[in-house]
Amino acid sequence: MIGRSLPADPVRRPLDAAFSYACHRCRRCSHDKLIQVNPYEIARLARNRGMGTTAFIEAYLDEQPYLRRGADGACVFLGPEGCTVHPDRPLVCRVYPLGRHVRSDGRVEYSKLDGDPRSAGVFGLDGTIAAYLADQKVEDFARAADRYLAVLQRLYDSWCAAPPAGADGVSGSSAAVVEAQAREDLAEDPPPELLDLDRAVAEHCRRCGLAEPSEVDARMELHLAAIDAWLDRQH
Ligand code: SF4
Repeated sequence: MIGRSLPADPVRRPLDAAFSYACHRCRRCSHDKLIQVNPYEIARLARNRGMGTTAFIEAYLDEQPYLRRGADGACVFLGPEGCTVHPDRPLVCRVYPLGRHVRSDGRVEYSKLDGDPRSAGVFGLDGTIAAYLADQKVEDFARAADRYLAVLQRLYDSWCAAPPAGADGVSGSSAAVVEAQAREDLAEDPPPELLDLDRAVAEHCRRCGLAEPSEVDARMELHLAAIDAWLDRQH
């Protein structure tokens, strides 16, 4: 072990870089953080609470898509003994105190985050980043994050290719016609819900005459397929 609270540094490290972190359950890491969640994470947390994603979003997200925090800055899921949704905690909580960075070529690197100066956690060099992440059971969550990142990129690219009227220099009566047509198209074929996985999957299965799977990973695949299919129909 080496000393606690090493200063954060911007260096991006590969999976085989030396790293270890010993948590001493001081709970500081769950305060004053914006915990962003994707549809897979929302679905996992919703199942953990025994509810659907629509009700979960209403109950536990503040400014979407961030977990609600209390007046003291604590995450809504922080209890006296620590995280009350530990088996289903989001990716960002699993990789903490590392930051995960996906490069444009798909390579993933990690950096050490600025910890709370009052944290009792101890940084060290006794293992590797890969071993730490395996211990935190990051794999399913990292895969889901990458899949949603790819589909969001596709949505963004689609918007850039055909931006709403007024955003690409179309103006006046031409803009009004294009906008009216776009509104009509969207009313006929609205995009799937992006955050609310249960609602999107229910709609997709109804449209396609499919039975809804119960398992979260299978539901995520259908959600991504629904968004991809909608994007395909836009061209
Ligand atoms: S979900 Fe759990 S680990 Fe993540 S910030 Fe909230 S209490 Fe902490």
